[in-house]
Amino acid sequence: MTPTLAATRNESTALRDLLDGEVVMPSDPAWDEARLAWNLAADQRPAAVVFVESVDDVVAVVDYARENGLRVTAQGTGHFANSLDSLADTILVKTVRMRGVEIDPDARTARAEAGVPWEEVSLAAAEHGLAALAGSSPDVGVVGYTLGGGLGWLARRYGLAANSVVAVELVTADGRLVRTDRHNEPELFWAVRGGGGSFGLVTAIEFALYPVSEVYAGILFFPFERAKEILSAWREWVESTSDEVTSAGRLLQFPPFSEVPEQLRRQSFVIVEAAFISDEEVGAALLQPLRELGPVMDTFAMIPVEDLRHLHMDPPGPVPGVGDGMTLVDLTPEAVDALLAVAGPGSGSPLVSVELRQLGGAVAQESPADGAVGAIDAGFALFAVGMAADAELVELVEARVDALKAALGPWTAARGYFNFADSPEEGEGFYPPDTYRGLQWMKAAYDPGELFRASHPIRPARRSEVV
Ligand SMILES: Cc1cc2nc3c(=O)[nH]c(=O)nc-3n(C[C@H](O)[C@H](O)[C@H](O)COP(=O)(O)OP(=O)(O)OC[C@H]3O[C@@H](n4cnc5c(N)ncnc54)[C@H](O)[C@@H]3O)c2cc1C
Repeated sequence: MTPTLAATRNESTALRDLLDGEVVMPSDPAWDEARLAWNLAADQRPAAVVFVESVDDVVAVVDYARENGLRVTAQGTGHFANSLDSLADTILVKTVRMRGVEIDPDARTARAEAGVPWEEVSLAAAEHGLAALAGSSPDVGVVGYTLGGGLGWLARRYGLAANSVVAVELVTADGRLVRTDRHNEPELFWAVRGGGGSFGLVTAIEFALYPVSEVYAGILFFPFERAKEILSAWREWVESTSDEVTSAGRLLQFPPFSEVPEQLRRQSFVIVEAAFISDEEVGAALLQPLRELGPVMDTFAMIPVEDLRHLHMDPPGPVPGVGDGMTLVDLTPEAVDALLAVAGPGSGSPLVSVELRQLGGAVAQESPADGAVGAIDAGFALFAVGMAADAELVELVEARVDALKAALGPWTAARGYFNFADSPEEGEGFYPPDTYRGLQWMKAAYDPGELFRASHPIRPARRSEVV
């Protein structure tokens, strides 16, 4: 029989008695709210939801799950909830109440507890003239993002966020609190930096900050109909940019939501977004070839680095989204044509956003000190998404995303990017074979019984394969 927490009221009471945090069961009035993820399209049906408040709570839930034949999955925000498989027999541990942030300006490091969204770190670091390797969205979780790699606006200069991590504190399947770093259980430290949440429940993470306080950044908006010309020009332009520049080319069809500024609502554009770690003079000179194309709107200016959290115009709160990503070896003129045939002007595309992020620079450079995701070996990372408020829209958007991926098939890179793969894929496709084998050994060493469910799971090596 499948173990279930709700089998008797006594069992859920027993778990409640172990915790300072809150346990919400399917029979509780708060259930439907408790099981919501940031991505409202995800219909999460775990055995129970636990809002942990401390490391002790995390240890108690992990021990309880192990002793009662249940599994555990951790969620900071639920931005990636569509990538999870079934949560039957699983306790969904929400870390949203663990919100401590500490900045050490002398060491140039930050420590964030498991439930901290990027905005809270970026603002705290900025008070000291420092920047974190945050992603595009203010409310994406520091932990989930970093465990999967972490590609932000400073990436081409400083690399993936996972490789700026200096320590990870996590509770392992045997209920131990481990602080892993390059000296303490270094193989685990390697695995968690890019291997996702398969190895334990992270309670806090510590990472490097960088001395950047201002950047030259903004967006050039062009009419959607100019998509081919602008994406082609952007593609050519990125060849000439230094690692101080990280940019994206994007098709954007603003939804009719009240959160979208009125002048943009229902409007479609092809846009170029970029951040230059430079002063205005240098940035403006580099941008000039794109400016000469005559944008209808140009927002480039010197901005405080923490304001990069708004550059990408990500939704300000939970939305129902369906999307997926892929990586491309290159964006040739033929690839631009293939992309636009499915998602460009006149295609009837229901996709709100199709973005292409420029990789290369430090994102392409591996170092022996890196974790499991050292570099992304591709020219561009693509993410396409549509709003999916009902089953019909889900089907429509999924079909278009699939068609887009198929159309770009000839340019697909060997491995996808973990954080942009927003569907329940196994971990295997994101790593070179040797790396995946190493991760499997770590899974066998730390969680052979697969207590932890995670996005893009790593499966344990069989006993006979473990040396
Ligand atoms: C609007 C938006 C913008 C984005 N922008 C970027 C971007 O700029 N760059 C980029 O690289 N990615 C980006 N992403 C992808 C994002 O990095 C992933 O969705 C990431 O997993 C989100 O982390 P989270 O903690 O917010 O999500 P969650 O859904 O809460 O967590 C994702 C997964 O991380 C693991 N996890 C989370 N917390 C823990 C924990 N405490 N212990 C162990 N495992 C844990 C679990 O496996 C979980 O399923 C974006 C996504 C969205 C929706």
